[in-house]
Amino acid sequence: MTDSFVHKGKRKFLVEYLRNKIGISDENVLNAINEVPRHLFIQSIFEEFAYEDRAFPIASHQTISHPSTVAEQSELLELKKDEKVMEIGTGCGYQTMVLMKMNALVYTVERQKDLFEYSKNKLRELHSRPKFQSFGDGFAGLPTFAPFDKILVTCGAENLPTELLHQLKIGGKMVIPMGKTDEQILYRFTKVSEKEIHKEAFGAYKFVPMLGNTNI
Ligand code: SAH
Repeated sequence: MTDSFVHKGKRKFLVEYLRNKIGISDENVLNAINEVPRHLFIQSIFEEFAYEDRAFPIASHQTISHPSTVAEQSELLELKKDEKVMEIGTGCGYQTMVLMKMNALVYTVERQKDLFEYSKNKLRELHSRPKFQSFGDGFAGLPTFAPFDKILVTCGAENLPTELLHQLKIGGKMVIPMGKTDEQILYRFTKVSEKEIHKEAFGAYKFVPMLGNTNI
């Protein structure tokens, strides 16, 4: 599959939808969505719908998130150039590439072996290499590379994974959906000091669950 003028045109419409209907205003997010060829991350049977605001199945019963969810989560991070971001749940790698196009230094973790391999190959094909790509359990984070300016969790956690907060810089932010499997609330935690965490809520979503251990 290639990135044709038709795909590029559809991305422009998607960006206008995200701006006007969803209310995304961070130009850094909108530029990244405009640049990343989402259709190349999903199965070819879904290609014609790739720029609609829809989620699609990827390997291992996981899903690529709606573009509006990717845009909202990315906007909530309030990313600045060259910030260190840890992503939990690489999936197919689409959100990973969006973060890289936003000039973040991305460290990403995936617990499903086939998605880890798939995303690694896909990002390499697209000449978009994260700083570090890990096959592992995101509940443990990446202590070797901590602390991070920002943390993005792309799967729904039943409880707050406290180890991740330890790996956040003071002043850093973590965006994470939390709740039961049928619905989660998207939260942003700001680490004000070692002892003080500020919590904000941003509405209901449905993510695949954050699960422990790894799956080969
Ligand atoms: N951002 C991804 C969304 C993938 S869905 C994309 O654009 O495609 C969420 C991903 O989180 C799934 O791939 C799932 O396997 C992964 N996941 C769930 N629990 C995890 C954990 N504990 N550690 C790492 N990844 C996890």
